[in-house]
Amino acid sequence: MKIKRLDIFGFKSFVDKVSIEFETGITGIVGPNGCGKSNILDAIRWVMGEQNVRHLRGRMMEDVIFGGSETRKPTGLAEVSVIFDNSDGNCPAAYKDFAEIMVTRKLYRSGDSDYLINKTPCRLLDINELFMDTGVGARAYSIIEQGKVGALVSAKPEERRSLIEEVAGVTKYKSRKKSALRK
Ligand code: ATP
Ligand code: MG
Repeated sequence: MKIKRLDIFGFKSFVDKVSIEFETGITGIVGPNGCGKSNILDAIRWVMGEQNVRHLRGRMMEDVIFGGSETRKPTGLAEVSVIFDNSDGNCPAAYKDFAEIMVTRKLYRSGDSDYLINKTPCRLLDINELFMDTGVGARAYSIIEQGKVGALVSAKPEERRSLIEEVAGVTKYKSRKKSALRK
């Protein structure tokens, strides 16, 4: 699964709608300090289901909604969509027939939130399952941030094992087993 496009609206410093196209090859994001480079990565993590606000560099989830500036009023919601190219049919079986998969997350200031896959409302669980074992995801190995390589080298064997399980594609089954045993 390869990211084709990212649409950001009202998320952190992105007050107006911004679409970022990821062409084939390497995409570099450059700009002065504080211009919003890391916020783009936060948007990708958030739309893929990140629930821990500290991983998004905030204190509360509302911090992801544009909070206003000298010239602009705060927005009432944050909305991020990520569009994946699925022409290789590499995604889970349920989405095989779609050439593109669009995942959307919205958060309103009231605290209400929506999750959508291809514009159809779904549960956060469906988004988590979509990404499980694909290597993509809020915490998956597709995002290697500063310090991650070092952390991996010095990780405990059990921690390293969870990464190998993700790569091997067994995470999904372990997660389903866990929730079945809970029921
Ligand atoms: P650096 O090069 O220093 O790493 P950067 O380009 O990664 O910078 P970011 O951390 O992405 O910068 O962006 C920081 C900016 O985003 C700050 O100016 C901050 O005020 C703004 N920002 C973060 N959250 C919000 C929010 N909810 N509303 C408005 N602005 C926000
Ligand atoms: Mg940064």
